[in-house]
Amino acid sequence: MWTIRTLLTRMSRATRMQLPLFSVDQANASFDSVSNQGAKDCSPCGSARLSQLRLCVLGSGSGGNSAVVCQGASALVIDLGLGPMTTARRLVAAGMNLQAIQAVCLTHLDQDHFRPTWVATLLRSQIPIYLHRWHIHDLASHAEGKRLQKAGLVHLIDEEPFEPVDGYSVQAIRLPHDRKGTCGYRVVTSGGALGYATDLGHVPKQLINAFTGVDLLAIESNYDEQMQVQSGRPAFLKRRIMGRAGHLSNDQSFIAVREILDRGLASSLQHIVLLHRSNQCNHPSIVRHVFEEDPRLLGRITLAEQREITPWICVDPNGSGHHEQLNLKF
Ligand SMILES: [Zn+2]
Repeated sequence: MWTIRTLLTRMSRATRMQLPLFSVDQANASFDSVSNQGAKDCSPCGSARLSQLRLCVLGSGSGGNSAVVCQGASALVIDLGLGPMTTARRLVAAGMNLQAIQAVCLTHLDQDHFRPTWVATLLRSQIPIYLHRWHIHDLASHAEGKRLQKAGLVHLIDEEPFEPVDGYSVQAIRLPHDRKGTCGYRVVTSGGALGYATDLGHVPKQLINAFTGVDLLAIESNYDEQMQVQSGRPAFLKRRIMGRAGHLSNDQSFIAVREILDRGLASSLQHIVLLHRSNQCNHPSIVRHVFEEDPRLLGRITLAEQREITPWICVDPNGSGHHEQLNLKF
């Protein structure tokens, strides 16, 4: 077992580009660049893949979470934890704009997943939001939330599949997080399936069942247990984060990913995006150390960042294991 000191020494030498387990080429992250102001469609991973499901995480961490899911020209956003201006800038960097967003699914209403500053934009653009019914009281307790409800933009969901965007079948999975819980989502289109789960204290069997067979998986890998224990955070906060209704550690996330891999067909899970990494109690080199234990994950992992977008991660219609652009070796 590595000691914290060993890890910190290694961390100072490591850069993300030297971590080939992670297949992110950040030079690709801003392909299409800011000059693509007029783009209405999602940025493709190659025109042949326009009909495939694809994912771009616009930012992830305690400072704000948001991800965009596309197929063809239609786009669904999961969480609005970055402000509208930041989101708009990152969408442009991803080759699209706010006008492409047809619906928003919220995991829960913590500030890092939904910013009330979005309300004016949602009203102006008439973008509907989908929210599990157990969160409605939190939304309705805010004047801004009431405005969304009055405008008919709030759609309450339960565990039944719903279709927020034509051709997108979405199912919520209830997950343990703080008092009210959070939602994981399974998104299925004719171009592939995505499992998305963040902010959960442990992995229930329902999540493994729901995500078995998805092509793309986005799941949080929030903290390293040892760094959490040794951090200067107050005891109550450590207890909350490490409890069964807190966040997933790297080890918990790895076990879940491996279980999903074990249960799926050999080629079904093509790529994994790790979300919500703690800056204070985690580090890419530690995440790498955990996930490199399984050679099947080689070149299949992208680590989402707080301040930059991921590249578009596309379902490969041939199911060859992972996207050619992301296939970097150790
Ligand atoms: Zn969060």
